[in-house]
Amino acid sequence: MSGLLTQLVRRQASMMMPRRNASALFLAGPPINKVTNKICSVDASMLQHRVFLNGHCLLKNKSYDRILFILRRLVSYEQHESPTVPHHVHPTPVLPLTEKIPSSCHILIAGGGIIGQSVAYHLSQIGVEDIVLVEKSKLASGATWQSSGQGIHLQNTLIQTHLTKYSKQLYEKLERDGHDIGYAEKGSVWVAQTSDRLHTLKRQYATIKPLGIGCEILNLEKIKEKLPIIDPHEIWGGLWVKDDFMVDPVSLALTFAKLAIDNGVKIVEDCSVKEILTEKQRGGQYDRVTSVVTSQGDIKCDVFINCTGLWARELGYQSSPGVRIPTQACEYMCLKTKPIANFSKDTPIVHDPDERFYIQPLADQSVLIGGFLRESKPIFSNGVPEAFNYSLLPDNWDDFHWILNNALKRLPILGDSEYETLITGADSYTPDGRLIMNESAEIDNYFVASGTNGNGIAVAGGVGKYIAELIHTGNTEQSTWPIDIRRFMRLHTNKRFLKDRLREIPGMINIFHRSEPEEFVLGKQYSLKYPTYGMSLYRTGRKLRVSALHPKLQAVGAVFGEVLGYERPLFFNLDEFEKRENLDDLSKQGTFGKARWFNIVKREYNACRKGVAVIDMTSFTKYELKSANRSVIDFLQMLCANNIDKPIGTVVHTGMLNEQGGYENDCSVIRLDDYHFLLISPTSQSTRSMKWLKSHVPEDGSVFLSDVTSLYTALNVIGPKAKYLLAELSDENFNDFARMTCREIDVGFVSHIYAMRLTHTGEDGFMLYIPSEYALCVYEQLMEQGKDYGIINAGYFAQRTLRIERMYAFWGQDIDKKTTPFDLNREFRVSFDKEFIGKAALLKQKSEGIQKRFIQFLLEDHDMDLDPWPWSGEPIYRNGEFCGFVTSTAYGFTLGKQVCLGYVHAPKGEKITTNYIRGATYEIDIATKRFRARPNLYQPSEMGPTVQLSTP
Ligand SMILES: Cc1cc2nc3c(=O)[nH]c(=O)nc-3n(C[C@H](O)[C@H](O)[C@H](O)COP(=O)(O)OP(=O)(O)OC[C@H]3O[C@@H](n4cnc5c(N)ncnc54)[C@H](O)[C@@H]3O)c2cc1C
Repeated sequence: MSGLLTQLVRRQASMMMPRRNASALFLAGPPINKVTNKICSVDASMLQHRVFLNGHCLLKNKSYDRILFILRRLVSYEQHESPTVPHHVHPTPVLPLTEKIPSSCHILIAGGGIIGQSVAYHLSQIGVEDIVLVEKSKLASGATWQSSGQGIHLQNTLIQTHLTKYSKQLYEKLERDGHDIGYAEKGSVWVAQTSDRLHTLKRQYATIKPLGIGCEILNLEKIKEKLPIIDPHEIWGGLWVKDDFMVDPVSLALTFAKLAIDNGVKIVEDCSVKEILTEKQRGGQYDRVTSVVTSQGDIKCDVFINCTGLWARELGYQSSPGVRIPTQACEYMCLKTKPIANFSKDTPIVHDPDERFYIQPLADQSVLIGGFLRESKPIFSNGVPEAFNYSLLPDNWDDFHWILNNALKRLPILGDSEYETLITGADSYTPDGRLIMNESAEIDNYFVASGTNGNGIAVAGGVGKYIAELIHTGNTEQSTWPIDIRRFMRLHTNKRFLKDRLREIPGMINIFHRSEPEEFVLGKQYSLKYPTYGMSLYRTGRKLRVSALHPKLQAVGAVFGEVLGYERPLFFNLDEFEKRENLDDLSKQGTFGKARWFNIVKREYNACRKGVAVIDMTSFTKYELKSANRSVIDFLQMLCANNIDKPIGTVVHTGMLNEQGGYENDCSVIRLDDYHFLLISPTSQSTRSMKWLKSHVPEDGSVFLSDVTSLYTALNVIGPKAKYLLAELSDENFNDFARMTCREIDVGFVSHIYAMRLTHTGEDGFMLYIPSEYALCVYEQLMEQGKDYGIINAGYFAQRTLRIERMYAFWGQDIDKKTTPFDLNREFRVSFDKEFIGKAALLKQKSEGIQKRFIQFLLEDHDMDLDPWPWSGEPIYRNGEFCGFVTSTAYGFTLGKQVCLGYVHAPKGEKITTNYIRGATYEIDIATKRFRARPNLYQPSEMGPTVQLSTP
């Protein structure tokens, strides 16, 4: 069989075979003489859909996992040559490994893939001693062995782009220093087949360019110059990322190992971690790692790092309490051709995201053709087999031929090449397509670095650096919240959830039905990134957490988005509901400009500003804290920057800061009784803030801490008419109900409702925390009585607009652990006359001045009907120089302009003052078009008085 094209045609012909044959498994690929097997015969013809084991034909009539398990044994390689990048090209270093694990060490790393070895290397580089790395099989025999070693900078979070940028610098240096790791700065061409794709590429260009990453927008002529072999049909333009690179993954990993060993790290192969032992601390509230049980015996350690890739989730369960690591193995396929004689050595990596394929020219003039399907294949849901090292999955031509077909159309020269092998490998993927890092929520000193989503080689250098810094200094150069393991909760590790959600992650773009809207798809680099305005709109793994009002709100037209598994109403699609149209359609209509829900949200916004509306905000994280004596007050005073020791019934907005003065949490603390508090945090903070609280509770167990999120339904009755409406339903005197106070009141037939006079947007109104079984009753009475006041339902999009116009920063969007109250101009919420964590850092900053400042920008010359909208992540330019990024945006219905919140950073050595901000001109870049932007240091006066910014 010769050319790929011929093979593909035959393959497609074979698709016409009767159903029974077509669904049977198909084993082809690695030359059969390389396969360790005891089989009588393997029919590896590309036209046959049968595999014979001991003379029996295996059909796909058993569970897929079971069949894979059988076949796995058939495709284990005798030689350990990587099927993707043959490492004989780059000789691997000889490693003086350690035979037997010692009885104790400071840090134990499990997993000898690229991630574990990079962590070991970086820890040893910064002088950490007494490190042991154990690998259950051989170094780099897991996903690293399967990998093709591309390093791409277009990652789906900014922090991952930073990690890749660092990796590139490091790998380049290693190669310069004489380590043969196959580093080559190949560059990537990304082509666009639609105007929306080109727009996406321009946005990505605008984001990575200011970071110093070499890139350029290409017109068709320039694409043809870089890629004379491309069929230019339907191409709108593209992006050139000069800095994208290639390495030999196995050589790189073993080089990390060699340098780590040179620095004193002990590396032990054939040693499997079986269990992680812990002991209780802080009055039994928390656990920490004490030692690890391995196949070679026990080893005591102070710190444990789980870098076991595909196996990380299962290993997470091998401790008490279990560490929840929501990763799932999914297929990753690429085909290797034989060397192509007339293939230019200068050909760059090519990505055609609309057709879902990439090609990667290798050093021996062969080419890898890879890609991702629209719907991916989660595998090994019940655990990755122990022996899946130096192993591949059975070839999956049924799926791969779509990818191959697209590549051949775009790059016809590949049709003449000869097929060498199809590589069907696997990597560990996560429910949101982002990496998983940092200290686990469940056990102190138990760190995780996994969930590499097919990008582990690109980010490995950066992951190693950040994990090493975190362990050594307790801090990292940048906030890692988007890839922090604490962004998940227990339900995300549920196998059924992972199996469902992960179908959506590795692939992500619909090539076969391009008209289908896709803005609800986030994640992998191949998705079109339409704005979602901070709300995840996945199609799978939904309705995990809903409020008691969910069915009611859905029935009246709510369109929901999800945060941390919680369904929250985004807006109410009343008009469409009356016309009986599909409710979801409005949210799924992808556009970079004015959204179809614009007028709906405007109506809800107006009700909040001028009348009365109800917003279901039940997803907030709610904790109850109590003690028998002052203990809970002392505890909260130490954690909170603001003074919470106020009269019963007071609500205090406060940050909880770290030692550097940055926000670990931004919350409301409500004093219900002498020693009884309610604490309300952002939805996304559920796991993270519990960890922070538990890490600081007194050792004597005197503070009782409980998550009461599920007990209360939270309704925001918002707008100037809210108090009149509530007065009709309650005996309470709302005229003397002071702002930022809380009372227990009746509403309608229902008692024991905590009512607080506050909103989270600065409007007048009330937050009602209702015991959940009464929520429907209260809601119905509010809506019935509210008819006289024109009450309507409102959603998170209206609320978002209100808070952005009033310049309210939200944790997780505008605030992270690197932001201090001074950066935000929120020092009025800091009580310097008491002790609290972070005080010393804040006092230092107060005397030295700030380096970055939170600013509101109004776009001056933006046409909301014709121009692309800002959406967050846009670069901000001060006097023509890049100075920071936009963090959240909305169209301001009162201000009549696009409103962007973001940070202005001063160059090293300079400090930010009012004059520094005001005495400059600003522009915001939306997909390479720059708009003049007027900076506001304070909330604009057009918004009228806010009711939330002062604390009694
Ligand atoms: C076909 C294919 C192509 C790819 N191409 C690219 C690419 O071009 N660019 C890119 O950036 N990424 C690519 N990837 C992804 C990349 O290979 C992975 O993300 C990366 O190798 C993951 O590294 P890791 O160290 O986390 O996992 P692994 O390499 O799997 O290492 C984990 C190690 O942990 C060991 N282990 C497991 N359990 C235990 C235990 N209990 N005790 C001790 N040891 C244990 C395993 O044996 C294994 O060696 C590709 C992946 C595939 C499958």
